[in-house]
Amino acid sequence: MTTSQTPALKIVPRTDPVMEATNMIHDMPELIRRHVTDDQVCVLTFDRPDSAANIFDKAALMELSDHINYVMCNSDLKGVVLTSAKKSIFIAGADLTQLSKARTPEELRDMIELGQVVFNRLSTIGIPTVAAIHGACVGGGYEVCLACDYRLASPDKATKIGLPETQLGIVPAWGGSTRLPRLIGLSKALDIILGGKTLAAKPALKCGMIDEIVPREYLVEKACQLILWRGTKLRVRPTRLAHTIMKLGPVMNFITKKVQRQLQQKTRGHYPAIPKALEVVTQGLTKSLEASLLLERDAILELGTTEACKNLIRIFFLQERAKKLSGFAADTTTETKVSPVKRITVVGAGIMGGGIAQWASSRDIPVILRDINHDAIAKGLAGIAKIYEQAVKRHALTKVEARAGMDRVSPSAVDVPLHSADVIIEAAVEKMDLKKQLFARLDELAGPNTILASNTSALSISEIATATKHPERVIGIHFFNPVHRMQLVEVVVGRQTSPEVVRRAVKFVQQIGKLPVVVRDAPGFLVNRILMPYLIEAGHLFENGARVEDIDESMLEFGMPMGPLRLIDEVGVDVSNHVAADLASKFSDRMHCPEVLSKMIADQLLGKKSGKGFYLHSKKGKEPVVNMRIDKYHSGTSCAKLTRDELRTRMVLLMINESARCLEGGIVDEAADVDFGMIMGTGFAPFLGGPLRFADNVGLSLVVAEMKRLADEEPRFTPCNLLQTLAGTGQTFYKS
Ligand code: NAD
Repeated sequence: MTTSQTPALKIVPRTDPVMEATNMIHDMPELIRRHVTDDQVCVLTFDRPDSAANIFDKAALMELSDHINYVMCNSDLKGVVLTSAKKSIFIAGADLTQLSKARTPEELRDMIELGQVVFNRLSTIGIPTVAAIHGACVGGGYEVCLACDYRLASPDKATKIGLPETQLGIVPAWGGSTRLPRLIGLSKALDIILGGKTLAAKPALKCGMIDEIVPREYLVEKACQLILWRGTKLRVRPTRLAHTIMKLGPVMNFITKKVQRQLQQKTRGHYPAIPKALEVVTQGLTKSLEASLLLERDAILELGTTEACKNLIRIFFLQERAKKLSGFAADTTTETKVSPVKRITVVGAGIMGGGIAQWASSRDIPVILRDINHDAIAKGLAGIAKIYEQAVKRHALTKVEARAGMDRVSPSAVDVPLHSADVIIEAAVEKMDLKKQLFARLDELAGPNTILASNTSALSISEIATATKHPERVIGIHFFNPVHRMQLVEVVVGRQTSPEVVRRAVKFVQQIGKLPVVVRDAPGFLVNRILMPYLIEAGHLFENGARVEDIDESMLEFGMPMGPLRLIDEVGVDVSNHVAADLASKFSDRMHCPEVLSKMIADQLLGKKSGKGFYLHSKKGKEPVVNMRIDKYHSGTSCAKLTRDELRTRMVLLMINESARCLEGGIVDEAADVDFGMIMGTGFAPFLGGPLRFADNVGLSLVVAEMKRLADEEPRFTPCNLLQTLAGTGQTFYKS
């Protein structure tokens, strides 16, 4: 926020000798600028130099503490405003690098206590404090706002407010678990904290996390006015009867028990931070603020060393890495400047093409949406409109933003010149001949610098490229279904794809807010290649007598978001069979498509889309139930007596083996790419860190021994060379 944006109240930077001296002592760049207005309001602007984000590390906490000292020594001051100078971030939370590098519990404790002490000092500073929030305000960033008396936020898309700590395997411990339930009541606070939720400004206002929505341009001005007009009244909060009732023992016990039951069902005990957060929030509410803060601190000390926490924080760092990638992680060529994509064309307005067009248009990119006829286009547009409607309902977009997005999609049922498109994404049906024909035509219609991308799930990018005169500009940009929910995009590099096209494709994926993983062209690319042996094995186990419930439950217990047979139903039995058969034809040494799928297709048991598959699916959105007639498709009994542990071992071992093969075959360069792809693309138990991290933790020699034991009778379990070599030499996929 600059002086020029706040005309009513002139904010004059004032140099302060105490601060200057402190800065010299710290010898650190200034992270928080201080201004005192003519009306004696102290405005603290978070503005970390050379960074798009503000974060709370030790230095920022110390600096805030210094400013609090200054305020406390200046009795003329009327109030304090916290704000940020960043374009889309208020404060993005604690510095996770510092947190994850804490080697001893003492180091972790120091960091937690420092934050608690500084925020406590802010909350008892003696004059009104107002947070003027624009941009991401999460974790520690929101906890500092909770320590203020009043919270204003801009309505912009960039503003997101919440406490996502449980998603990182920890609990809010700088006062968030203590202050939020006192502010908005127990039920709502549990919903935010246990769910690790972040909300847009409007729902945040509705649930009381902020007090007012104010346009970004007037945030600081309004905050200063509030301080001057309402003074200490800002500090008084009415006690709500509902909050008091919530604190009563029986009510609290009822809520706790109910939430505990739901949590157990949902998390199956894999995420210790969530029940811990429940304990801290509910117990803390019955204690003094100080005692509750101690609970927060002890919870972090307990959780910070768990494997789940380490893995979840690692995933956070992998996501951050994906945001900065420019090609293969190991590619060290100097990066050339890549211009942002201004226009795209999507060919095929089906499930995927519609999804891609909606997503890109919501990110301010004009899209030409091409399909063969008006009916297909109309269907595609209806699909896009539905996704926009849902986004408005969720408050992810305003009605105006949704309409503007929809207006950015220009449908076309005939060929139009595509010279102005920076990227063309083909999402027509999955047939090589058709794709080749399309690419030959697109090659003619496109401008010389246009990237020609295919969203194919499994067809060879290198082969598609042979239909063009410029194979170097052909690449795979493989989105996952549903596009608006799945963050991962595989960028598939064909044999002749140029490094520049790879860089531009990766930048495009990042530009639209998705997370790229760069993979080399090979059957199934990365994610489907590892997922299919797992699904095939599930079909095989079923075929040989294992029950649907046992197969799916065993993997839910492992931590997968959905059992494999249920996933086959969701994807479609016919589509799963098609992809499985395709991969099986390429890896016939170890993959055999289970016959049960073709039999089910013949009987019109196609899964969710036909209402029947391994499960019966109700149209009313009820949870599917196992199809009791499915047992007639058992054709053997060899797996009927396997325990859930045995079923799970088989399915997981095959995923580990195929993951290792992807690394061995150079599909990706690093184990982290495999794990990242599987977690983001399939929901592979995030707290386990991905298949290769999991294998490391189990012990590779144990993994190999078990595979060899099974391979004696069933050769598909033969461990690949890389697994055997690593296990044989006592190495692991990860160095540490
Ligand atoms: P879909 O059947 O829903 O849509 C295909 C669309 O392409 C239809 O609207 C059809 O009219 C159109 N089309 C056919 N021929 C065309 C042509 N010559 N020119 C323009 N449009 C044409 O299919 P989908 O599920 O959206 O899949 C599209 C592509 O995305 C496939 O390659 C598929 O493998 C891939 N994919 C699908 C999923 C998924 O889960 N559905 C996920 C990732 C990738």
